[in-house]
Amino acid sequence: MTDVIVVGAGFAGLAAARRLAAAGRDVLVLEARERVGGRVLSVPVGESYVESGGQWVGPGQDRMLALLAELGRGTFPTYDEGAKLAELGGRRLRYSGRVPRLNPLVLADIGQAQLRLDRAARRVPLDAPWEAARAAALDGQTFGSWLRERVRTPTGRAFFRLITEAVWCAGPEEMSALWAQFYVHAGGGVDSLINTTGGAQQDRVSGGTQAVAEHLAAGLGERVVLGAAVTDVDWDRSVVRVRAGGREYRAAHAVVALPPPAATRIRYSPGLPAERDQLLQRMPMGWTIKVNVVYDEPFWRADGLAGQANSDVRAVGTVFDGSHADGTPAVLTGFLEARHAQAAARLGPKERRELVLDDLAAYFGPRARQAQGYVEQDWAAEEFTRGCYGAFATPHALTRFGPALRRPVGPLHWAGTETATRWAGYMDGALESGERAAEEILGDE
Ligand SMILES: Cc1cc2nc3c(=O)[nH]c(=O)nc-3n(C[C@H](O)[C@H](O)[C@H](O)COP(=O)(O)OP(=O)(O)OC[C@H]3O[C@@H](n4cnc5c(N)ncnc54)[C@H](O)[C@@H]3O)c2cc1C
Repeated sequence: MTDVIVVGAGFAGLAAARRLAAAGRDVLVLEARERVGGRVLSVPVGESYVESGGQWVGPGQDRMLALLAELGRGTFPTYDEGAKLAELGGRRLRYSGRVPRLNPLVLADIGQAQLRLDRAARRVPLDAPWEAARAAALDGQTFGSWLRERVRTPTGRAFFRLITEAVWCAGPEEMSALWAQFYVHAGGGVDSLINTTGGAQQDRVSGGTQAVAEHLAAGLGERVVLGAAVTDVDWDRSVVRVRAGGREYRAAHAVVALPPPAATRIRYSPGLPAERDQLLQRMPMGWTIKVNVVYDEPFWRADGLAGQANSDVRAVGTVFDGSHADGTPAVLTGFLEARHAQAAARLGPKERRELVLDDLAAYFGPRARQAQGYVEQDWAAEEFTRGCYGAFATPHALTRFGPALRRPVGPLHWAGTETATRWAGYMDGALESGERAAEEILGDE
């Protein structure tokens, strides 16, 4: 019998196990996949790699940055020089700086709505969004309806749809307005969420994000068991019995560090309190297919382009320069988000690759078709993730069931980026959640 079983070896589970082991607790991590890292995945390409999952770190992600510093892992800036491309409201724009040169009326519309969103978000308490002023009214509507009342121009609306799909991998009409505002506050504001320099996409992790997870797992040694998909958690006040891969493990406590839908696929006995289950039923995952297209050189830079593009009509709605610090391999990293991911997932692999290359060629010219490598990852098709980047809350979920988000159930504790108070949905939030769950257990004893 161990002190604590941690279910899931993503950043949340690994952070929990690390904190508990440092406090001298006997801990066992059960991971369904044959690898650690969960939603971070660095895929080898030649002598190098591309990031198919969590990729960037930015200012304010203090836990992640502190961990990288502690492990002696550097960062390098995302290439962010030159002009960016945007297709918005039927116009194609090439621009420098942060904002495309749109019609002044549209710019004022977007600017004012963003100001109102940031201001409203700052009023949402991070540890209890359900206690926000007017929480019930906000949570009783979708982010889409909140935006419709505040964004007047069609291009302004297209802009907010585009950034919603880019940030949440879901449409504004799918999620609660309260959840959207909580998330904006947790990530330091709209600019912080969408920007490269100064924002969440500012820097890359040298050696890849998955290597960080592997580093954490190596520190835990044999306490991490791979290929151990947990199917059953039986618990009472004195013991937790966990079944995985035909074996039974026992512990005094468990930390379940899974995305919400994955957490509901475990059979709990006795069953979880109804409010917790109802909450998880209202937290679906977004959907993205992430593509990394590899070239012999970053040809777009010679054309004065930053390798960044957005479109409110194309399947590949968001693109970044995903090259390494020295430009090799040269990579365009694209995202097919929300409805575009769903439509593209119905295509065969060849057709999807053509669709992606067509979109990149439309942005960056015909050389974009001369790909030397192509890596795609559909996270919704992954049995142990089923979507990304994370889960969101649908209307009424937070105000009716939110307090069940982190509340322990007997010896069971809850982690995962969706339970974080800062940078929920990000690697940083995953670390926070794991450390918090570990502290709960240590504080309980
Ligand atoms: C395409 C993509 C791009 C992203 N970009 C960024 C970015 O640039 N910056 C950023 O900070 N974040 C980014 N994210 C989000 C970030 O990767 C996640 O927030 C973070 O990694 C989540 O960690 P977690 O530990 O909470 O969950 P997960 O990483 O999902 O870990 C859960 C683990 O549990 C395992 N598991 C599931 N079911 C079971 C079971 N029954 N038994 C045992 N184990 C189980 C899974 O295999 C997994 O390893 C991105 C994510 C994706 C997918």
